[in-house]
Amino acid sequence: MAYIITSACIEETAGECTLVCPVDCITEGTSVDGEHMYFIDPEICISCGACEAVCPVGAIYYEDDIPASEHAYIEKNRLFYHK
Ligand code: SF4
Ligand code: SF4
Repeated sequence: MAYIITSACIEETAGECTLVCPVDCITEGTSVDGEHMYFIDPEICISCGACEAVCPVGAIYYEDDIPASEHAYIEKNRLFYHK
């Protein structure tokens, strides 16, 4: 289980999350649907929650806590790292 970045990031993308991640696992990029946003590598994330605390738009959730309306971003994140 890891943290996942969801749709609110698309409008923001200032990158505060990357400044606090202790394992440097957050990357800027483009989703399979062409959305410019950030992604968390689930194989490196240690689920410390630091990124969630600083995101100004509440885009980051622990995987188990993602609202149903944002579940598509679990798969978009997986595809970003396994194209
Ligand atoms: S802090 Fe939030 S909005 Fe900003 S890049 Fe990270 S996930 Fe996206
Ligand atoms: S939960 Fe911690 S390790 Fe995972 S992406 Fe956020 S800051 Fe990095």
